[in-house]
Amino acid sequence: MTRRIFGSTLFVTVVMIIISSLLVFGMLYNYFYNEAQDEVRTETDRVAAGVEEQGIDYLHLIEPVVQYRMTLIAADGVVLYDNEATPAEMDNHGDREEVVEALQSGHGSSERFSDTLSTTTIYFAKRLSDGSVMRLSSMTDSIITLLLDLVRPVLVALVTAIILSIAVAWLGAKRIVAPINEIDLERPEEVVLYDELAPLLTRIIKQREQLERRMAEIEYRRSEFETITANMKEGLLVLDSKGHVITHNEGALTLMGIKAPEKLQSVYTLNRSEQFYDCVDNAIEGKHREGVVHFGDRVCRIFANPVLREGDLVGIILLIFDTTESEKHEKIRREFTANVSHELKTPLTSISGFAEIIKNGMVKDSDIKKFAGNIYDEAQRLIALVRDTIKLSELDEKRTDFEKEDINLADTVKSVLKRLEPIKEEKNVSFEIELTPASIFGVEQVIHEMIYNICDNAIRYNREGGRVFVTLVGDDNEVKLSVCDTGAGIPHAERERIFERFYRVDQSRNSVGTGLGLSIVKHGAQLHGASVEVKDREGEGTCFILHFPR
Ligand code: ADP
Repeated sequence: MTRRIFGSTLFVTVVMIIISSLLVFGMLYNYFYNEAQDEVRTETDRVAAGVEEQGIDYLHLIEPVVQYRMTLIAADGVVLYDNEATPAEMDNHGDREEVVEALQSGHGSSERFSDTLSTTTIYFAKRLSDGSVMRLSSMTDSIITLLLDLVRPVLVALVTAIILSIAVAWLGAKRIVAPINEIDLERPEEVVLYDELAPLLTRIIKQREQLERRMAEIEYRRSEFETITANMKEGLLVLDSKGHVITHNEGALTLMGIKAPEKLQSVYTLNRSEQFYDCVDNAIEGKHREGVVHFGDRVCRIFANPVLREGDLVGIILLIFDTTESEKHEKIRREFTANVSHELKTPLTSISGFAEIIKNGMVKDSDIKKFAGNIYDEAQRLIALVRDTIKLSELDEKRTDFEKEDINLADTVKSVLKRLEPIKEEKNVSFEIELTPASIFGVEQVIHEMIYNICDNAIRYNREGGRVFVTLVGDDNEVKLSVCDTGAGIPHAERERIFERFYRVDQSRNSVGTGLGLSIVKHGAQLHGASVEVKDREGEGTCFILHFPR
């Protein structure tokens, strides 16, 4: 700004100085030149009149007082007199411009520059009555000499102009710029400034409003994005095209088991597994990739998506889904299917074997009844297996159509014990029952099945003539049903595993069971938010305690 004002001021000043100097110089030069011409002309007339009267002697007479060069030239051009040179040594002057002119018209004039161009000589000539010519000349400084004389004062004026321009520019710029610098960009409308700045200020206000709107929009989008991603269980990593982490959510850190990456940290440093690298590498090459990656105990499915703009890769989005549970369930389902097939195969093979022997007539008539009994037992086992499998599948599916109702547990226990009467008799086991009225909110059919399985085990894994204690108590917090027996007990190491599907502590001892009873108990308890406790009974046997929260 200062430089511009300085430049313009200086330019205008210099141009003005030069133009005015030239004008003044031109006028002065003209004036003085005309004056000099007039003087020479007048003097020529005066001297010519003198010579007309007194002849050449007049010239000798005035010679000491005259400042001009005087030359008397005969009509043939021969110089008769000259006050500054010897006439005899001077060449013929008949061809001089002013002389020729005077000879023709009576008066003549001319001017000539000297060789060095430093002086100009003005000549005036007048024809005398005898035909000779009287010529006077005067030397003045040439216009160039005068111009050169002018250089110094003009230079002084220029330097002064530069100094003044700097001062004016500096002060002017300061005064112009100061209020502009003081504009409050937050509230430019409050400043009353130059009218010329009004459109600029209006634009600043408009742009500021636009900027505020954009910022608010960006802020809204950012917080919307953060709210969504922060509440996602899934992991999200946004990478640049080189694989540097731009943003991430908490889900990604939890699933990958890492702490927050540094700004623009390479994604390759977050996990070094081959599958993870493969997903990222493919995405960097612009290809979509899915893969299963293990982060410690966690199994995750990764979706690596390249983000392309006009065909160019601008970033990568990594989505991480926790599939640990579904993988586990898938594994359990696979094992369950294999186990079910295996468990079904054993009784079916027996049934098929017995039937084949009878078909081939290899059984005596008296043994047919025994064989039919075996077939019946195996078929019963098959039915029990299928029934338990169906029940477990129903609980597995977490069916929502289970209807919950208020259940009087004492009634349910009684109805279970009634059903178990035959095995109880068979095993010669006696029951001691202590039931206080207690009710829970649940699915009758499932609760019945759970109690049945526990009591059934208490009889089956009891000793001959053993006892079973069934106690039902309830307080404000929970309803507790315990079933204790006097059997052989369950080794501590096995207690976790007895709830697994098809798990039996001693396969030979328990060949009658399906191995699914306690799994049904566990799933039933989960459906009711209840827990199952297994502990030793004092003395001998085991206690199974169901805790139902109120
Ligand atoms: P099963 O059909 O074999 O009885 P369960 O799932 O009901 O299957 O039981 C799993 C295993 O736990 C049984 O095979 C048995 O070995 C053991 N078990 C369950 N209840 C008792 C108990 N009251 N006393 C001793 N062992 C038991």
